[in-house]
Amino acid sequence: MNTLTSGPEAPSFQPKKDYFEPMHTAEHILNQTMVRMFGCPRSRNAHIEKTKSKCDYELNASPSQDQIAEIEQKVNQIISQNLPVTCRMMTREEAAKISDTSKLPPDTGDMLRVVFVGEYDACPCIGKHVENTSQIGRFKITTWDWQPGRLRLRFKLEQGVAS
Ligand SMILES: [Zn+2]
Repeated sequence: MNTLTSGPEAPSFQPKKDYFEPMHTAEHILNQTMVRMFGCPRSRNAHIEKTKSKCDYELNASPSQDQIAEIEQKVNQIISQNLPVTCRMMTREEAAKISDTSKLPPDTGDMLRVVFVGEYDACPCIGKHVENTSQIGRFKITTWDWQPGRLRLRFKLEQGVAS
């Protein structure tokens, strides 16, 4: 048990019926991968479900099939490092230095819960996550389409070890 994830300051969180921690944690890794590869913002339009999910990204040019394969490969490379997923309470100011806090609702309190995937990603989030990326499985992009300004990725998780 990770003591950083508990304690009186941990915000309460009611998971949705279909909430699935491995899928949501994969979303964090995918977001960071998209930011690094394309310099786009994290997805603001994500539908995360147990069996399949989709995320939209603001992209002005269509990625190539090779780039799509690279996204999948990179996400699996991170998952396969068996990184710890931890969280820390920090001030909004501290959080802004290591993550994008610009899209948080204005009524968010001054203390934020920031979720870390190893040293790869840091993101303010009140959701539930796996404790280690080894619990995610293999990330698979099922289909994708691009229209001017928007890339939609649909993905699922497969049993087994990511590679
Ligand atoms: Zn999260």
